[in-house]
Amino acid sequence: MKYEEVVDIYEKVGSTTKRLEKISILSNFLKKLDEKDKEVLYLLLGRVYPEYDERKIGISSQLAIKSISKAFGIDEKEIIEKWKTLGDLGDVAENLSSKKKQTTLHKEVLTTEKIIENLRKLPELQGKGTIEKKIYLIVELLNSASPLEAKYIVRLLLGDLRIGIKESTIRDSLGYAFFDESSRKEAIKKIQNLIDSKNDIAAVFEVVKSKDLKKLSEVKIEVGKPVKVMLAQKVKTIKEAFEYVGKPCAIEYKYDGFRLLIHKKGNEVSLFTRRLENVTKQFPEVVEYVKDYIKGDSFIIDSEAVGFDKKTKEYRPFQEISQRIKRKYDIENLKEQLPVEVNAFDLLYYNGESLIDKPFKERAKLLRKIIKPQKYKIVPAKQIITSSESEAERFYKEALKEKQEGVMFKNLEAVYQPGSRVGHMLKVKPEEKDFDLVITGAEYGTGKRSGWLSSFVLSCRDKNKFLDVGKVGTGVKEKKEEGISFEELTEKLKPYILEEKGKEVKIKPKVIVSVTYQEIQKSPTYSSGFALRFPRITALRPDKPLSEITTLNEIKKEFESQKRNYLRG
Ligand code: AMP
Repeated sequence: MKYEEVVDIYEKVGSTTKRLEKISILSNFLKKLDEKDKEVLYLLLGRVYPEYDERKIGISSQLAIKSISKAFGIDEKEIIEKWKTLGDLGDVAENLSSKKKQTTLHKEVLTTEKIIENLRKLPELQGKGTIEKKIYLIVELLNSASPLEAKYIVRLLLGDLRIGIKESTIRDSLGYAFFDESSRKEAIKKIQNLIDSKNDIAAVFEVVKSKDLKKLSEVKIEVGKPVKVMLAQKVKTIKEAFEYVGKPCAIEYKYDGFRLLIHKKGNEVSLFTRRLENVTKQFPEVVEYVKDYIKGDSFIIDSEAVGFDKKTKEYRPFQEISQRIKRKYDIENLKEQLPVEVNAFDLLYYNGESLIDKPFKERAKLLRKIIKPQKYKIVPAKQIITSSESEAERFYKEALKEKQEGVMFKNLEAVYQPGSRVGHMLKVKPEEKDFDLVITGAEYGTGKRSGWLSSFVLSCRDKNKFLDVGKVGTGVKEKKEEGISFEELTEKLKPYILEEKGKEVKIKPKVIVSVTYQEIQKSPTYSSGFALRFPRITALRPDKPLSEITTLNEIKKEFESQKRNYLRG
């Protein structure tokens, strides 16, 4: 397919802020889209891989600048100047391309296949001369692009199309394209289920195109392809939890680690986080535990991996093992220093059969049959099945004493719903004052901290917007050995700096942190209308997606409940 046609859609969709108009443009396009062009759906979302695929194009602004410079024969400095005035490197490329096009006659027709092919080569390149090779692949595209095509190629490279298409926009557009009003609502719900289980928008398109509601209902999960995990809701008390999930129910420890989805097929084990990242290489010991202590030819297990102290055997809080998720080198060493125990709590697939539609009690029972428990390696989650509140209370206290976060209540009859926050799995944990927020700005430090970003603007989410709730420097350390350091955080944030003004920088919302605080106050200073008193960063949360950070509504709720507590004294 000609890239020009996709660019036309980008332009049209980007020119309106109205969601329904976007959907109408997209659904007309999707109606006509041939199945062989299904990968164009990735391009609509500003990517070139399915969502389950963790590879990213991953080009820095610097490399984009170098490529633009080479393609259009303009000095890098000049490009940076233009970037400052236009604010977007895609716009810079468009501008330069239109000037160049007046003097040169091009061009080959640029196809979506060629774009995808070249962009997919980028993360594969390694070793000597990588940068030059990358630049070559980008320049090749830019050279045969029209000005508008050049704009969107650069935006694709940087992972941000800036036209306001989200997965949910595509979902609804598919609903409008292939279903009439009578069945659309139901279809859209099913399309969401498909998205959550397949994590591949092109594959979802194939199914939806059949216009067969029955086919849509067959949520298939496949070993080796990550599934979005089922999420829990929160309640305050054990009594409330019983009211929601019914009696009797299963109660399990809520382990304070990170979610790990374990897939096995034959001898092949893959491990995924809740963000669908493949972390198999980071946890070689877990691969061994799975092979040695779990029976079965093929399965998908949902679990929580928890860190523990090698000497004292005490469980450690999440932040201490979080580095194991990201670290790609020195793995053998890290494995010794920060061992994890896998606590398995659900079974989604077993020996060729999907179990997600089976009741939880059956899945949990089979899970306990196939694991040969090995303390500090791999065990089923501690579980009781009860109707008794006092027994539940005792179990909850025991979990806290063992340094876990609290307990999970689970309805015995419930199915597994990938990607949903469900009312049949509930967490109960002590009231803690802790938010997960994203860093959207910072300030360079002075004195000892010069060269580092040292004060960070924290934001919560309000639908599509990020609103700030305060600034924080506390909790971040001068020295690496003491925890999250300024240096580490600065390195993490640097690639996402959007603009600099004096000492202040604006940062693309990417890096998520857990923040404790003492109190929420109303504040005219911050765009959320609230400020956190005494905030302190306690952990980096590479495991959390942006969609799961604290929302403005949650902050409002906390603020209200804090007021009530004050009134009660
Ligand atoms: P939260 O992150 O506070 O929303 O709590 C839900 C998370 O608790 C899940 O995503 C899991 O990572 C974790 N978890 C720990 N133990 C369990 C368990 N026994 N069952 C389900 N989830 C658990």
